This record gives sequence, structure tokens and C-alpha cells, in this order.
Amino acid sequence: MRRAAAVLFLPLALTSLPALADPLPAKADQVVQYRIKVALDPAKVELAGTETLTWRNPSITDTVSELQFHLYLNAFKNTKSTFMSESGGQLRSLQMARDSFGWIDVTSMKTASGADLKPTFAFIQPDDRNVDDQTVAKVVLPEPVPPGGSVTLEITFTSKLPKVFARTGYRNDFFLVGQWFPKLGVYEPAGMRGREAGGWNCHQFHASSEFYADYGAYAVDITVPSSYVVGATGARTAERVNGNGTTTHTFEQADVHDFAWTADPDYVVVKAKFSATQDVTPAEYQRISRLLGRPLDEVKLSDVDITVLLQPEHRPQAQRHVDAAKAGLKWYGLWYGRYPYRTLTVVDPAPGGMGAGGMEYPTFITAGTAWMLNYWPFDRIRMVEEVTVHEFGHQYWYAMVGNNEFEEAWLDEGINTYSTSKAMVAAYGAEKTVIDFLGLSLGDQDMSRTSNDPAARYNRILANAWDYVPRSDYAFYSYYKASLVLQTLEGYLGEQTMARLMRTYQERWRFRHPRSEDFFALVNEITGQDWSWYFDQVVRGTDIVDYDVGLATSDPVLKARGVFDGPGGRASVSAADAMKADLEAAAKKAQTYRSVVVVRRNGGVRLPVEVAFKFEGKPVERQTWDGQDTFKKYVFERPERLEWAEVDPDRKVMLDVDWLNNGRRLTPDRRPATSWAARWYFLVQTLITSLGLL
Ligand SMILES: [Zn+2]
Repeated sequence: MRRAAAVLFLPLALTSLPALADPLPAKADQVVQYRIKVALDPAKVELAGTETLTWRNPSITDTVSELQFHLYLNAFKNTKSTFMSESGGQLRSLQMARDSFGWIDVTSMKTASGADLKPTFAFIQPDDRNVDDQTVAKVVLPEPVPPGGSVTLEITFTSKLPKVFARTGYRNDFFLVGQWFPKLGVYEPAGMRGREAGGWNCHQFHASSEFYADYGAYAVDITVPSSYVVGATGARTAERVNGNGTTTHTFEQADVHDFAWTADPDYVVVKAKFSATQDVTPAEYQRISRLLGRPLDEVKLSDVDITVLLQPEHRPQAQRHVDAAKAGLKWYGLWYGRYPYRTLTVVDPAPGGMGAGGMEYPTFITAGTAWMLNYWPFDRIRMVEEVTVHEFGHQYWYAMVGNNEFEEAWLDEGINTYSTSKAMVAAYGAEKTVIDFLGLSLGDQDMSRTSNDPAARYNRILANAWDYVPRSDYAFYSYYKASLVLQTLEGYLGEQTMARLMRTYQERWRFRHPRSEDFFALVNEITGQDWSWYFDQVVRGTDIVDYDVGLATSDPVLKARGVFDGPGGRASVSAADAMKADLEAAAKKAQTYRSVVVVRRNGGVRLPVEVAFKFEGKPVERQTWDGQDTFKKYVFERPERLEWAEVDPDRKVMLDVDWLNNGRRLTPDRRPATSWAARWYFLVQTLITSLGLL
């Protein structure tokens, strides 16, 4: 394990901060263009689609003769798919309906010049060689695509939707249509994300994680029965009544890497507008401008049309959805840069359709609530807000910064969990983000901490999403531990440096595909220090953080006894003399105290920590321990008695698995225990997990 080269604890001096300001990219490099026409047959729960797909070879050196596609609905085709064998048909505590399978058939695939690609069409299994998995296919092109060249394909396909499960499907006449069309993987030229040779990155559909695709423009015609309300990625650009009982809705969006849509005749359509001038005050713009060190016009936001598609029985929660969407647009926008799209659609899945809840797609998210939350006191549980803000946050961490979720899920889920906490605190208050009633409150930032178990020391954050054993550890490492890693980093860097770091990361990687090394390198660049000792331990490593105060004593120094040689000859002090002297000193309050404090490192992770000491009648003193050895002993001889000692007094090290052992008090403390609040943390976390959200 690498030792800390330089112990860095306090926030960096402002003057040492390079004023890094990258321009916020306005547009993505359009690698793909999808023109899709799709018709829904609600009776058969099938989609019939045609797709015109243009792909541009992004390499400047590679000639590419093969294309690779995601065909993710085939994850639900039978129990032998990789998704089904990994998940056992169970996801986020929900069970797949029996005999409700889904699939996608590519019925034809030709080049624009008419060459038939179907004879070369083959399913491949790059991740696990499960020959029964049909979620990735490749085709061989008759003419290779030169560097910078393009190819256009004409594809027809039929998709069968499963009953709502794992984010997609139907429930009665509610349809949430995600992962539904043949979608290209990412061709990564040599050098991209550390690749030695160019090649496709096209993972199979797994039980955990689902996204990695290239940016481009989508235009989709969705034909459904005219009674259906439709919502989708992007802006509605046309609506045509066909005269046969159906209506065609056209949605278009550029600079995105996926497209999803929904249809349900029962939706209540709630329209709202995020106003860049009314929903953010001039003082807030100024504060952010100072925090980020950017001119005011660089932090200005833009207006966004918000559509909430609500279930009728959740009507009383309409404003809560709108307010949460606005909170996301505002705080993510201020911190990480303007939301560049004109629309945001928030979908409230039908009752029984919770498998489609808590999901992110570009400009289109699904939340989820329950009628129970209409009523006091459950209306004070901020679940709607938490889920809406989190899924909105994926517009920044997943949609705009498009990391490879299969290989490095923490870059979207972890950064977004960290960001959700901050946005919830900014919008709803530090202590009351999750619960606020009967004088009881629960803060969002405590949620990640409650899941940080001392026994969680076998997996690591940086791992393929499908490699976690047990599979459930994926969530702890990718969401919660990763969030704690970032919160702890913020403890070390201070709010301002952290804010500038995250802003620059978004700017530099917006509409691109970073990997973990890019994030680590940016931390080094922004701080001017090498932080590999930190990330090696807490992102690549497995061990835990736990500091405690193992011993704290403070006793009077007693008068020495025995025979002493001095300038005036030999003298002896008897036990009785010594006791008398000690009693006199005590009566005059003239004793010296010897205070001993032992701070221990119980976990394998070595981080610098502050230790605070409080002596009677004196202000709190602090020292920094580098945390390298297994313990550090502090000894003081002073006229004052030690009252208490505490490691990490400001709770900067959010990764610490146990804060209850962080301090020892030598004088009695009669502050009431707050254990019942801890019980509430557990209850809310259980509730959110069991509803399958986030
Ligand atoms: Zn998420």
C-alpha cells in the first residue's frame, strides 16, 4: 500500500487553486443518427418498427468492417439469457411475471444501397460466452467504413414487451418502452478509454447496469391508439391523427445516447416551466459564480419545459413532482452547468408498474410514488423528491457525461448519489431532506452512511457491474460507498475546490466517455497534488475505514517518592510526605495532570485524520495524524485535566464505518441518546429499497 506522500488535510489555500475553466460544450459529436418509426399494438403488446441508422466511424486510423448492436429486450426472452440467469428473474425486490417474456426480432437489415446484412447477422456474447444470450449481435459490412466515413442501414424489427419488469414493459394499458430498438454499441478507437487497439464496446444486458452508447440525433415517430397520452425523450415536433383510430407523435432530440417513451390513456398531464430568471435568484447566481470562480454569464441557466405524466390517483402530489424537477434543474444546473435540452419529462408509473420506476433516460425519467404518500404523516417522507432529483441527476452523470456503466458504474451512480444528497440538502435543508415530521428529521447524507457496514470489505468500487459477489453488493459499492468516497474527498478538499473539480469534470467530459483514470487525473490537476494514495485505497481497494479513540485518561501527576541526589546532597521523600504534598496541591488546585490518548486505526485504509483534545477551561486543540501506523499515542502533562478527545471531530471522513467509537469523554455527559433517530434511518432506507427505487 502506497504511503501518503504529503499529508493533506485542511482545505487548500485559495491562492493555490488554478482557475480551471473549460468551456461547456454546446453539442455532442454526432456519431449516430436514428430515424425510427414505431407502432404499438396494445392488444398484442408488440412494437413494429423501421429504423434508418447512420453511423460515422469516429476513428482517424481504423477501417471498420463490423457493427455491433444491443438487442436488450432479448434479456427477457427466456430463462437462459444472461440477465435471467444472473437475476433469477428478480430485480430490486420485484419479481418478473410468469410467462411474460419479451424479445426483439430483427426482421431485415440492409445497407442503403440494398446489400442484405441478415446472412452475416450473429449473436455474440463478449462478456460471459453464454451462447443462449441474444442481447448482442454483430453484422459484417460488405464494404468496410473508412476512418471518418459513414454507413447507413435500413432495419425492420418487431419487439414484444414483457409485463413491466426491470425498467421496461407494460401493465394493463400503461407502457414504458425502454431498450426497445436495435441500438449500436460504442466503437472505441485506439487510445479512447485507455484502449490499445480500436474495437467495439458492446456489453450484454446484465442484471446490474445497462448503459453505454454513442451520442447522436434521434427522430422517432410513435404511432399509438389516439386515446393514449404519449411522452418521450426530446421535444414533440409533430402530432398527426391518422384517421384509423391512431395518432402519430414525433419526438426529436440531438446530443443524446438513448431514446425511451411511454404511453398510457390515463395520464394526467401536468405542464410547468423552469424559469432561469424566476426559479433562481440573482443572489444565488452570484454565490455560485463566486464558489466556482466563473463569470456570472457562465453560470446562467436556461428555461426548460417540464411535463409530468401523473397517475390520476397521485394528483395531490403533482406540485411535489414539479418542485423536485425544478430543484434538480436548478442545483445541478448551477453546480455542473446549464441543462442544455429544452424539455424534461417525468413519468409516474402506473400502480403495479413500479418495475418501471426510478429510471433514467435522456431528458426522460421515471419516478414513482404511492397513494399513501398523499396523506399525513407519510406526505412528509420525501421519497418522490429523492427519486425525482436522483433520476434527473442522471441527465448529468450518465446522459451528458456518458461513462461506461457496465465497467465503471460508480462514475454515474456514485457521483449521482453524491450529487443527489447535495441537491436535496440545498433544496430541502440539511437535516430534513428525507423525513420532516413530528420533530423528527432525517438528512439525505446520513442515508449512505447507514449502509456502510464494517463487514463490507470484500468487493471494490472499480469492478465490472456483473462481477459482484453477492450481486447485491453492486448497489452498495456503486452508489453508497462511492458517494462516501466523494463526500470524504470533499472533507479533505473543502467545498470550493470540490465544487470547481466537479464543474470542470462535467465541462471537460460533457458528451464524452470518461473513465475513472480521467476523474483521478483531474483531481490531481485541480489540486496540484497526487491523490493516488486515496483512490488506490478507497476505489480500487477493498478495505474499510475506521478510526477510534481506544484510550483516554487524565490523572494527577503524583509527587515522586524515594531517594534523590541533588546539589544539596541526598534527600528522601517518604510515602507520607508525598501524600501530604499531593493533598496540598489538590487543595490549592495546583496539580499537574498526565493525559494519555490513544487513537487507533481499525480498518486497513490509511487516511490522515484530525484529532481534537479538550482540556478544562481551554479551547479545543487539534492535531493531524497521518493514520499510517495502527495507533498513535498522545501524552500531555498540563495543569488542566483532559475533558474529552475525539478523532475526526468535524466528521469529514464520511467513509468511517463507525462514528460511535470516535470520541471518549472523561467527564459525564448527560446528553440524551438519539438512538430512535437511527431507527428511522433504517426504516426509510428499507422503504426506498423495497419499493425498488433509485
Ligand atoms: Zn441512479
